Amino acid sequence: MAMTMTTLRLLLGDQLNIQHSWFNDVDDTKIYVLMEVRQETDYVLHHAQKILAIFAAMRDLATQLIGRGHRVHYLRIDDANNHHTIPANIDALVKRYQALAVEYQMPDEWRLDQQLYLHSRTSTIPWRMVESEHFYNGRNQAADIFMGRKQWLMEYFYRQMRVMYQVLMDDGKPIGGQWNYDHDNRKAWRGTPAEPIDRRVKHDHTRLWQSIVDAGVASFGAPQEQQLPWALNRQEALQQLAAFIEHALPHFGDFQDAMSTKAWRLFHSLLSFALNVKMLNPREVVASAEAAYRAGLAPLAATEGFIRQILGWREYIRGMYWANMPDYAEKNFFNHHRELPAWFWTGNTKMNCLSHAITQSLEQAHAHHIQRLMVIGNFALLTGLAPSAVHRWYLGVYIDAFEWVELPNTIGMSQFADGGLLATKPYVSSAAYIDKMSDYCKGCHYDKKIRIGEKACPFNALYWDFFERNKKILAKNPRIGMAYRQLEKMDHNSIAEFQQQAQRILDNLDAL
Ligand code: FAD
Ligand code: SF4
Repeated sequence: MAMTMTTLRLLLGDQLNIQHSWFNDVDDTKIYVLMEVRQETDYVLHHAQKILAIFAAMRDLATQLIGRGHRVHYLRIDDANNHHTIPANIDALVKRYQALAVEYQMPDEWRLDQQLYLHSRTSTIPWRMVESEHFYNGRNQAADIFMGRKQWLMEYFYRQMRVMYQVLMDDGKPIGGQWNYDHDNRKAWRGTPAEPIDRRVKHDHTRLWQSIVDAGVASFGAPQEQQLPWALNRQEALQQLAAFIEHALPHFGDFQDAMSTKAWRLFHSLLSFALNVKMLNPREVVASAEAAYRAGLAPLAATEGFIRQILGWREYIRGMYWANMPDYAEKNFFNHHRELPAWFWTGNTKMNCLSHAITQSLEQAHAHHIQRLMVIGNFALLTGLAPSAVHRWYLGVYIDAFEWVELPNTIGMSQFADGGLLATKPYVSSAAYIDKMSDYCKGCHYDKKIRIGEKACPFNALYWDFFERNKKILAKNPRIGMAYRQLEKMDHNSIAEFQQQAQRILDNLDAL
């Protein structure tokens, strides 16, 4: 073989897109490189399932590529030749194969983008970056859409996307005459319709898990190594998509914001892992949902609500990330510095909503949007936890957590640490909202209606204390005028009582 022609093609752990045009031709001069490196297992403390699922899916892709005749160099976590950083491994492989070029797909995380770019500049051979062929938009396209606008309103972006990509459009107008059916999508779930059964394929990855443990990789959460429930290749991801469209999409809209102790998945797709590691393309997920609506299999409100998450939120969040990195990671609008309570790592708290949401996160490596935003994130913001610590927790715990999508959701949407670049108001609530959308309060040690005293739901005093202590910076925000009008009506003593109650809570977070 002509060694002189060899090109290394790097595939990162979230670039498992077997439909990429790289794979259109079998070419002996191209060697696909995948590596299980400590650099990636250790940059934050990850959930066990996240490490396991990414490695297992990488191995699956490597096997498929080899099966199709491609050349693959796979570095396992326990490989004696593994240098455990991407640049060191690439350099060693360039030498070994006498490669004349390195190619890589556009990374989605700033950290990796920088690392590869900076390393490429020290190399004596050319490094070329190609598109990952995954997203609707280019990295900076959202910034172009918002050019000259003061605020990045998601709804504006979403409408542009609908028109640009002709999604749920008929004759230039949104189907049904409305762009957004969110007001139909806010029901609590009381047990019917039944939660669809979990049809995800389960995998036994005991050996792989053992090799991760033996390598000394630290992690947290339940590995579920004998029953790993995540799609590990495109075929399984497509099956999961089909099952979602048939069994869950019709009810997705109604119960999108609902939470229940009896049904942790409810009608969510659990497709975020398959999407974020690029086994699935967002266009095919959106097209399947639209086709279901057009075939009369799903209502418009549910379909539009689901499509908005992918065509709208997912692309918008990515645009926000690239427009604001690297500074975005350091944002701390409220100057919050408190450490996470210890029970973020165990779920052992008497607050039933948090106990459920966190225990579920530790067991399943997943919680749905409202659990992330209005239970865990709400608590973190009201108690003034350090946004960087909150960010690291979210980045570690969820199966779908990659910085480009996790960071703006956490720092921007959930913690308002960017001062309102992304969200128009802080997402906070007292017990009333959690009680309305869930059955958590019924089994709780605390009483949702009580505001002061040992039995009082901590969210109640924390909520008013948050608005009171941030009056100077928030009172002018028209979207939260109501909270301030209510505060104005309260007498001085009640406010002081709230503040004292909140202080007691803040002094004893670990004991909640
Ligand atoms: P579904 O409810 O079925 O929604 C369908 C798809 O829409 C998801 O798979 C996802 O790809 C997309 N989507 C929905 N909401 C968002 C959103 N706000 N931003 C981007 N995409 C969205 N999502 C991640 O993919 N990775 C993360 O690390 C992540 N961290 C989050 C942290 C916080 C604090 C919050 C509030 C939200 C976060 N999200 C994150 C968004 C959302 O919670 C998850 O995408 C969703 O829960 C994944 O479950 P699902 O696939 O069942 O989603
Ligand atoms: Fe959560 Fe308060 Fe309800 Fe308990 S009473 S579940 S702490 S909101």
